[in-house]
Amino acid sequence: MLYLDYNATTPIDPGVHAAMLPFMEKEFGNPSSMCTLGRTAAHALMEAHTQVARLLGARSSELLFTSGATESIATAFHSALSADPAKRHIVTSATEHSATLNLCQVYETHGYEITQLSVDSTGILSLDALEEAITPTTALVSLIWANNETGVIFPIEKIIEITQRKKVTLHFDAVQAIGKIPIDLSTLPIDYLSLSGHKIYAPKGIGALYVHRHTLFTPLFPGSQENGRRAGTENVASCIALGKAAELAHQMLPLEMKRQCALRDRFEKTLLEKMEGVSLHGEKRNRLSNTSNLCFRGIQAVEALLLLDQEGLCCSSGSACNTKLKTPSHVLSAMGLTRDEVNSSLRFSIGRFSTEEEIDHALNIIPRVVQKLRELAL
Ligand SMILES: *Cc1c(COP(=O)(O)O)cnc(C)c1O
Repeated sequence: MLYLDYNATTPIDPGVHAAMLPFMEKEFGNPSSMCTLGRTAAHALMEAHTQVARLLGARSSELLFTSGATESIATAFHSALSADPAKRHIVTSATEHSATLNLCQVYETHGYEITQLSVDSTGILSLDALEEAITPTTALVSLIWANNETGVIFPIEKIIEITQRKKVTLHFDAVQAIGKIPIDLSTLPIDYLSLSGHKIYAPKGIGALYVHRHTLFTPLFPGSQENGRRAGTENVASCIALGKAAELAHQMLPLEMKRQCALRDRFEKTLLEKMEGVSLHGEKRNRLSNTSNLCFRGIQAVEALLLLDQEGLCCSSGSACNTKLKTPSHVLSAMGLTRDEVNSSLRFSIGRFSTEEEIDHALNIIPRVVQKLRELAL
């Protein structure tokens, strides 16, 4: 199989698997129990916090483990909106992940006002619009750091400069940025940051939320675990996995970023040069080095996905979640693309286990499949 869908999910790294395995077998202790088994689990859990903290330039006390980024985002919203119940305005963007969009819809039905900032044709939001949107009743600005569909990276420093000046709470959905670009929260004053295990070679169903040490925190599940920040017996093995995944990401990031960028650039350049009617979506410079979102004029992406899959190539149209719903990508639509353009766009995302040979293989398959679909459409 030729896997070019790392933004949808990643395989578990063998090192991560090895680290978590003992905690699914003989080290099954409950971290809250006083016996040796429990203490071993509690100690490993502490180490996992430290590993994730190191990747982010944060303190281990600023992190809590969750069931995934969806829960992290919901927790950040709950906490931020609990801080001052009189503030009932949320600012976000039109290109958020569905985890954020769905949450905003719910808060809207509960009487919150939502401002969804638009983006330009390159996928970048307007900083002036952000500044104007923030009012004295704004409880939270929640934005995606790097887009899962296009790889476009928002201007983080400038966003922070505005939210600092306006003294408004800031949350980033950094799921796609983690492990792909360096992040140092010791120099970036933000309140909340969400991340997910299964986008950085850990299992599905584990994530983390960063909460700045000076940010007032209200848990979604009140209770004693995670320093009183999330009730429920910890998913120990997966927490250990996320810790290990963070450590590996931290070690590999500098080299992997360069390696994946070279693969991606060759992939993109070859398709754009050798094929007719291909165009690239998203800001070219401020973009993740692993993502290519391309429009192949005259094809239907859903049909292409099926044919590519028959050839063993796995990629996606829009985000994995959008494909299931069969609605055109809201991200590409927000960038002003026509329905036709959106429906003929495919996302390729490479990762740690992508090789030169795989890219060559993909560069052989894709033009053939596109050609075939274009002929069928005539
Ligand atoms: C995958 C993803 C999420 C959701 O993460 P889960 O751990 O699957 O809940 C949120 N935001 C972005 C940008 C993502 O890519």
